[in-house]
Amino acid sequence: MSDLKLVARQDENHQSVIRVGNETIGGKELCLIAGPCAVESEQQLDEIAKGVSDLGIKFMRGGSYKPRTSPYAFQGLKKDGLRLLKNVSDKYGVKIVTEVLDTSLIEEVYPYADILQVGSRNAKNYAFLKELGKIDKPILLKRGMSSTISEWLLAAEYILLGGNENVILCERGIRTFDTSVRNTMDIAAIPLAKELSHLPVIADPSQGTGKRSLVTPLSLAAIAAGADGLMIEVHNDPEEALSDGFQSMYLDSMKEMVQVLKMQAELSGRSLDLKRIAAEVI
Ligand code: PEP
Ligand code: MN
Repeated sequence: MSDLKLVARQDENHQSVIRVGNETIGGKELCLIAGPCAVESEQQLDEIAKGVSDLGIKFMRGGSYKPRTSPYAFQGLKKDGLRLLKNVSDKYGVKIVTEVLDTSLIEEVYPYADILQVGSRNAKNYAFLKELGKIDKPILLKRGMSSTISEWLLAAEYILLGGNENVILCERGIRTFDTSVRNTMDIAAIPLAKELSHLPVIADPSQGTGKRSLVTPLSLAAIAAGADGLMIEVHNDPEEALSDGFQSMYLDSMKEMVQVLKMQAELSGRSLDLKRIAAEVI
């Protein structure tokens, strides 16, 4: 992969650590990002943000602009959702990860996001990737559902080439012949991407499996495989969720989950700080 000029790891000590305020991604500390698939209402987001921050999780996810397979499915609360994310960020001190769907929305999403998520469906939108290279906030780049590892890393190369070095790679499962899971979570992609690149690599076992009961085992596998973090969907009422409820953890079960993740992190030579952060505002 000789075209990986900026993304390639130069030697075994070459590892990018991305700073987001007081937090880091890519260092010894494991990065946990949790939250609903989509922002649905003030009450929903507040309950989840409280649950997530009570567990000591520092990053909250939530889509306000949703890339849905069906045009009739819930498309997100858009700007209103971004405002709700800002409110919980101020109230609980969590950092916000939210998706930007296309070039025309970068300016709108930018002030509300600490990390801008680029979805699997956009992993080959090269004009968009070039624009993301011009901004100065971290980009969480999902692997395209049909992208090879080389194509995924080259997508990151577009962003770095544009001038933005803060890219976090996210393995989120790929399409295979097997229909018993939503996606096939490619665990091997995690250590391989880390071998090939200095960028942090995290895993999204929620989209990666599409099944709640598989999220904890695949999270453990991802940490054991060397992931720098995890992105996990959690909902206060998964049965009523407007998107991806079937793969969302219950808030209650997250408590046990994070303890298990912490143990696995330590076994893997990493750490997981679950001290609650003091809200920066209020
Ligand atoms: C998501 O994170 O909710 C999402 C839509 O992810 P992906 O782009 O990986 O499908
Ligand atoms: Mn989702």
